[in-house]
Amino acid sequence: MSEIATEREAKDVAEGIITCDACPVLCRIRPGRTGACDRYGNVGGVLTRMDPMIIASHTEAKRGAMVPFLGAGEWKGTLLPGGETFVTGIGAGTTYPDYKPAPFIVSSRPGGVDMVTVVTEGIFSYCGLKLKIDTDRFVGPEQAAVRAEGEQVGHVTTAEYGSQMLALGGVRHLTGGSKKEGVVTCETMLTLANKGAVELAIDGGATLTVQAGRPPIVNGTQEERMRVGCGSATIGIFAKQWQGHADEVIVVDDHITGVLTEHQAGRFLEMRPSGIRVRGRKSTPGRYFQVANPGLGWGGTDITDPLAIIEKIDAKTAWPGMRLLMVSTTGEDAAYFILDEKLKPVLTPMPEAIRKAVERIGENCEPALTTVMFMAGAGGSLRAGVTENPIRLTRSIKEALVRVTSGGAPVYIWPGGGITYMVDVAAMPDNAFGHVPTPAIVAPIEFTMRLEDYRDLGGHMDSVRPVEAVLEQLQGSKSRNPIPGTTE
Ligand code: SF4
Repeated sequence: MSEIATEREAKDVAEGIITCDACPVLCRIRPGRTGACDRYGNVGGVLTRMDPMIIASHTEAKRGAMVPFLGAGEWKGTLLPGGETFVTGIGAGTTYPDYKPAPFIVSSRPGGVDMVTVVTEGIFSYCGLKLKIDTDRFVGPEQAAVRAEGEQVGHVTTAEYGSQMLALGGVRHLTGGSKKEGVVTCETMLTLANKGAVELAIDGGATLTVQAGRPPIVNGTQEERMRVGCGSATIGIFAKQWQGHADEVIVVDDHITGVLTEHQAGRFLEMRPSGIRVRGRKSTPGRYFQVANPGLGWGGTDITDPLAIIEKIDAKTAWPGMRLLMVSTTGEDAAYFILDEKLKPVLTPMPEAIRKAVERIGENCEPALTTVMFMAGAGGSLRAGVTENPIRLTRSIKEALVRVTSGGAPVYIWPGGGITYMVDVAAMPDNAFGHVPTPAIVAPIEFTMRLEDYRDLGGHMDSVRPVEAVLEQLQGSKSRNPIPGTTE
């Protein structure tokens, strides 16, 4: 060891400074202060995880629901069935280098079966968020950059049924761009994962305010309804209810606009063809693509006047007095017309039956929400904190011998190699995530299995502690986690 290093160590001891070794940053922390990420502090000369550790337990009244046991704020999430008390990774801390056993390896006997839960906080450079935003409105072209504070933090990805999708974060934005891009990406992910709101701007598209479990705000307008289905599906659902009240119904949709009398549903009901032809590319009878451009108007198109999508009205087929309803996929936009002697649609007040039919569409829409899924790769070095033979952990998870949770919430493990998991942040306790300035996201993760399986996969058996001992330790330290052996 160099003289300089020895001198510094002596100075640190004299000034009560301790070094945090929970991540590669290796902060030197003065007494009463915290490190760069605020997760660890120097409390009376002991390195301490500053956030309370979250322990969950079943309620008596509502079997299956979990309630906070220690320091969990207002969380009322639904967690693992079976265990009476569950130690989550939130506030558990991290061990670094990874070959050290995880901070908590907890044994318990739910239902008389010897179980063990390996509890840690993973530091993830390989992680991202998938946002499902329930709206038809155009948020931006596929692949467009999504920005926060001017930095690219992700992109628009493939839209889903009634929802626009964003992919945010990921290793490229965290590590592959400028320092600011990495920092802003990390902050954006952290806020969203901890259920906070962020404002995003999409190149060539909209500005969004999004928050897990809340309605999205698109260009300043809060989205209320998620569409009942595409234009064709809306016809499939309501065709029979419209029959007798309208001669033609056109459901305007950016993806698949439906024309009732031409659609299979109208044919099945033996409706008379109306002779109204809409713009766009015909896919199958009564189903049209690209009737307009994407936008913030009717059904996710850019139109505000629905008649703009009518290409022609065939005088040989149409008739004066024809009743035409044009409606969007959420029922938020609707107009009723009657064709005059020249077969020109004339806007007319809606009869009661039509008004009710439009309301029925709205009634069948679900509330529009933003869903935030956290996705990360746990197949790397953090496995060494669980077992000396990491591939066995991966295999045991695939063989369903090990159950993985994040903050107690169930995760979905992707098939194939590695341990790539996905969790709904809304199912987790509040503020379950942290960060380190490398930059990377810190997320709780727990591996639960039978004790004998843990032994078989080469687990750190010497580090297994009964749950009662862990609870006693945490209660003695106000549920904070003092790291043993880290005094100055
Ligand atoms: S950034 Fe946080 S975890 Fe990393 S060394 Fe500093 S205090 Fe410890």
